Amino acid sequence: MSDCLFCKIRDGQIPAKVVYQDDTCLAFEDINPQAPTHVLFIPRKHIATVNDVTAADEATVGHLFTAAAKLAQQRGHDSNGYRVVMNTNRDAGQTVFHIHLHLLAGRPLMWPPG
Ligand code: C5P
Repeated sequence: MSDCLFCKIRDGQIPAKVVYQDDTCLAFEDINPQAPTHVLFIPRKHIATVNDVTAADEATVGHLFTAAAKLAQQRGHDSNGYRVVMNTNRDAGQTVFHIHLHLLAGRPLMWPPG
């Protein structure tokens, strides 16, 4: 989508600190980190919200999780733990409408979230 911020990051039109990429996804440091590790995993394909995920996207969305788990492990967060979360629409506070899996780690994370 031409006016999507994360499509622009994917295409290199807006800078981001990319920490991982492959044919399916891209991961970059969140610009406003909420934990020592706060990385966003986005599919290369533009999908606006979780409501728009189709059966054809299942492998793509699953891939975001395996990529996030791999980075968590590389950064040594796998034993202490980490959180992966995808916000959907207003009540969850979604602000960018290109799905993204937040990987948060490096401090105790409160539950339930606010
Ligand atoms: O789940 P939500 O849509 O609220 O998350 C959007 C995230 O994208 C925020 O954590 C925000 O800091 C991040 N962001 C970013 N780079 C931008 C704009 C937003 O990392 N240029």
